[in-house]
Amino acid sequence: MSQKILGLFGGTFDPIHFGHLRTALELYQTLDLLEVRMIPCFQPVHRKLPVASPEQRLAMLKEAIISEPALKVDDREIIRKGPSYTIETLISLRAEFPKIPFGLIMGIDALLGFASWHRWEEILNHTHLIIAHRPHYELPRTGIIADLLKHRLIQNPSLIHDSFSGKILLHPVTALEISASDIRKQIMMGRDPRYLLPERTYQYILKHGIYHLSQL
Ligand code: ATP
Repeated sequence: MSQKILGLFGGTFDPIHFGHLRTALELYQTLDLLEVRMIPCFQPVHRKLPVASPEQRLAMLKEAIISEPALKVDDREIIRKGPSYTIETLISLRAEFPKIPFGLIMGIDALLGFASWHRWEEILNHTHLIIAHRPHYELPRTGIIADLLKHRLIQNPSLIHDSFSGKILLHPVTALEISASDIRKQIMMGRDPRYLLPERTYQYILKHGIYHLSQL
């Protein structure tokens, strides 16, 4: 089996930044993915509520990828509302694309908390995981995730095509230590976050006064 994989990249994207975008584009290119669907959540399950509204996070994402055809916006979690469980998103995507293998992209920090995700074992029946290596994070040696990796981890990207789902590929990406929380903090403090995120996204933030102290 050597069918192209559809990349799925979920996140709060509060706001989207070059750490997310560069990761998505590099994985698209090096793994020859069909495309990467960027899926902003409506309501994150494992963290506090986002600062920007779902509509604003969606709009900031659309501004960010406007000129990159490999990256697509998928707004199904925002339309669905409620807690954004990845398993439900995968089931809905599977109904739409019954024959395409999926690769759920996440940073290594997200993998470390994966065993607390709703119906996490089922997630692996629907998709591979593509783990973007981020600096300062190491794979665990003990615990549920370590056990999971023992059976499923692959380092050679070509092996991901051996099965339809269930593999965990660890893949290095250019390390950009950018975080949305740091960007929010900078804006709140009146600093300029330019060059950490796309200019169009930043202009949207300025226009709508998002993250500014008076908006919090
Ligand atoms: P916050 O700082 O608010 O926690 P964040 O910048 O980590 O946000 P999220 O939207 O929470 O952004 O992250 C979505 C996904 O993107 C996660 O899987 C996370 O691991 C990954 N990610 C976030 N920042 C980077 C980065 N700089 N490089 C690579 N992956 C990243």
